[in-house]
Amino acid sequence: MKPLSDIFPLLEAPKTVVITFHQKPDADAMGSGLGLYNFLIQFGHKVTVISPTNWAGFLSWMPGAKKVLDFEMQNEQSLEVLKNAEWLFCLDFNVLNRTKNMEPVIKNLPCIKILIDHHQQPHKEMFDYGESDTNKSSTAEMVYDLIINSGHAKNINKAVAECLYAGVMTDTGSFRFNSTSADVHRMVAALKETGFDHSQVHENLFDNFMESRFRFFGNVLLNRMEIFYEYNTALIAIPQKDLIKFNVKTGDTEGLVNFPLSIKGIKLAAVIIDRGDERKSSFRSKGGFDVNTFARKYFNGGGHFNAAGGKNTEDLSEVVKKFKKAIEENKEQLTS
Ligand code: 5GP
Ligand code: MN
Repeated sequence: MKPLSDIFPLLEAPKTVVITFHQKPDADAMGSGLGLYNFLIQFGHKVTVISPTNWAGFLSWMPGAKKVLDFEMQNEQSLEVLKNAEWLFCLDFNVLNRTKNMEPVIKNLPCIKILIDHHQQPHKEMFDYGESDTNKSSTAEMVYDLIINSGHAKNINKAVAECLYAGVMTDTGSFRFNSTSADVHRMVAALKETGFDHSQVHENLFDNFMESRFRFFGNVLLNRMEIFYEYNTALIAIPQKDLIKFNVKTGDTEGLVNFPLSIKGIKLAAVIIDRGDERKSSFRSKGGFDVNTFARKYFNGGGHFNAAGGKNTEDLSEVVKKFKKAIEENKEQLTS
């Protein structure tokens, strides 16, 4: 993988560009993708953003979101666009299987592939150019760096700013996590100079849920949460019938894992959801427990040191058993 800066001189020559990110995109995936989109269209590139799957309704306000293709729902159109791509930007993921059904398609594309990501252990050999930096707060911050370092600060308009702000704000837990460097605050100051309304961005992202999501949270916090005080660990395991009963939509479970993590003394919080086709897990930790390694070892996943996820094919009770065995094996690290 050659350095990202090698493409800077080529940025101004119009090309056919596709931007993609991980499945079930969060605000950093969608925000970095649409931030880059709103930047690149200013140079006359023909740019299409393709999401591997559908996305949460609270991301649809982002400038350009209405034009994003859903690879599953608009498959033929997406394949046609991908076939004609000269450049493919891959944002906010480290391994191609994070793009679900797009993985085999991307693998076989002859175009130039560019990675911009902040997750651990990326498959660098899959990409022609790129940057992978786990010290970065968000992919949105890395897209901002690309814009600045390529000498295009003046192209940061309100649309770019709103999208990048959404990405960096959510991936830093509203500027709370360790990754929130002085550079992050300087970036936000520069974005704010465009005059965009950051309060509106918060409202769009956080005050846009259906009542049913909170009934669902109430149900799982009451009935599905288990605390293992001897391991400083909390688990919420959700059967598929709960998702059906409360009409849970894509994005509704985001943030749920932060509730058990905010219990006094809890160092590891997990949410395991039976999504039908797979058991999807989310892990969060505080302090010195490495959930990236934990997710890799037991749950076919990965991510960051304090936030990771995974997926399993076994049924929910088996995955829960695996989790309990895993915390037993990690008792020393969890209780030290
Ligand atoms: P979340 O729990 O919000 O879904 O994900 C937390 C972090 O772990 C995110 O940075 C996400 O990209 C990463 N992650 C989530 N699920 C997986 C997975 O199945 N595989 C890998 N490699 N990373 C994941
Ligand atoms: Mn991210």
